[in-house]
Amino acid sequence: MTDCLVVGAGSLGLLTALALQARGLSVAVLDQGPGGREASWAGGGILCPLYPWRYADSVNALACRSNRLYPALVERLCTLGGIDPEWTPSGLLILDPDEQETVAAWAARHAQRVEWLLPEAVCQRQAGLAGVESPALWMPDVAQVRNPRLMQSLRTAVDRLGIPVSEYLPATGLHLSDGRVSGVQTPAGLRRAGRVVLCAGAWTARLLEGAGLPAPRIEPVRGQMLRFEAGIGRLNPLLMRGGVYLIPRRDGGIVVGSTLEQAGFDKTITENARDHLREHALALFPELAGLPMTHHWAGLRPGAPSGVPYIGAHPALEGLHINAGHFRNGLVMGPASAELLADLITGATPALDPAPYAFDAHRGDTLL
Ligand SMILES: Cc1cc2nc3c(=O)[nH]c(=O)nc-3n(C[C@H](O)[C@H](O)[C@H](O)COP(=O)(O)OP(=O)(O)OC[C@H]3O[C@@H](n4cnc5c(N)ncnc54)[C@H](O)[C@@H]3O)c2cc1C
Repeated sequence: MTDCLVVGAGSLGLLTALALQARGLSVAVLDQGPGGREASWAGGGILCPLYPWRYADSVNALACRSNRLYPALVERLCTLGGIDPEWTPSGLLILDPDEQETVAAWAARHAQRVEWLLPEAVCQRQAGLAGVESPALWMPDVAQVRNPRLMQSLRTAVDRLGIPVSEYLPATGLHLSDGRVSGVQTPAGLRRAGRVVLCAGAWTARLLEGAGLPAPRIEPVRGQMLRFEAGIGRLNPLLMRGGVYLIPRRDGGIVVGSTLEQAGFDKTITENARDHLREHALALFPELAGLPMTHHWAGLRPGAPSGVPYIGAHPALEGLHINAGHFRNGLVMGPASAELLADLITGATPALDPAPYAFDAHRGDTLL
């Protein structure tokens, strides 16, 4: 029998599967769709929470730990034959930062490099910006990944390492024996496993509620994004102002994001969101006006209160674990979250204190 069955083949599911296998456990994964095509595909791939000082230290701790793990992870994925996820330390320019003291205190607490730039220096770093009238914050170490490529690369690694992934196979319920979970029900029958790990993103609470179990507070939060074709080198750093960001990809694309909408499990794209994102992006980088906009898409973030994910054992059922609720920061928090859950399952000493991510830990009341 498989030691661990991972439900969900998004970034959290595949990273968790790799981490568990690396600790000697046998693992299988299933997904209700093709795997890797939900939030993990739709996201922006910025490897830093936006305005990170506004987040709890527990979110920053996972983000900082992941950023230490990313270069080796990317190297391993490439060695295993996956396509390059394009991990790039682009640096992030925040044009409307919060007060200096708040930022300085955060930077000191998490050992992050930050630099304040006067408007002239901002315009030297990136030509073509508009409305730059006050000092901006430069975060030189912020990196990005091209997340659809990361997902393809993770999938190649999982396949090459012999971890079976069953696609288009939803977990419809949990199977119990002797008072503990012993697998999941699917339309193709029972899939047995010693442990079940829920990495079902925005769908995690629904699955638990359906099984009559206490569920974490994870709600879908829709995010819409645009892509422009700009040409290589036109934009270099990641840019952020007024909650809208621009991500320069290596191939010259510029991704603009994102909206925060509570619309249930609806991934419809809207004209309003397109106009809002386009307007804000153009106000910051007017050159976009003449460039073709080639894509507009939406994804469902797994929104947990204060953006603090649920990582650890389910309190009501032996053998059931959760790694979900990463909200806006699943790509940056993913590697450290997978490492933490795998350590908790195998009884290894974790690199981070797991208490803030426990099922019953206090996370605050607000989602957005
Ligand atoms: C527009 C947007 C921009 C973002 N930008 C960033 C960013 O710049 N940086 C960052 O770090 N994060 C970003 N995020 C957030 C990040 O994408 C998510 O936090 C992360 O992808 C969550 O990963 P996941 O594996 O938990 O969820 P998902 O990728 O959604 O994967 C969950 C998987 O579970 C499967 N599943 C669900 N229910 C079942 C079931 N019953 N049975 C079987 N399978 C099931 C689904 O099919 C899916 O494949 C962004 C998200 C969006 C939408």
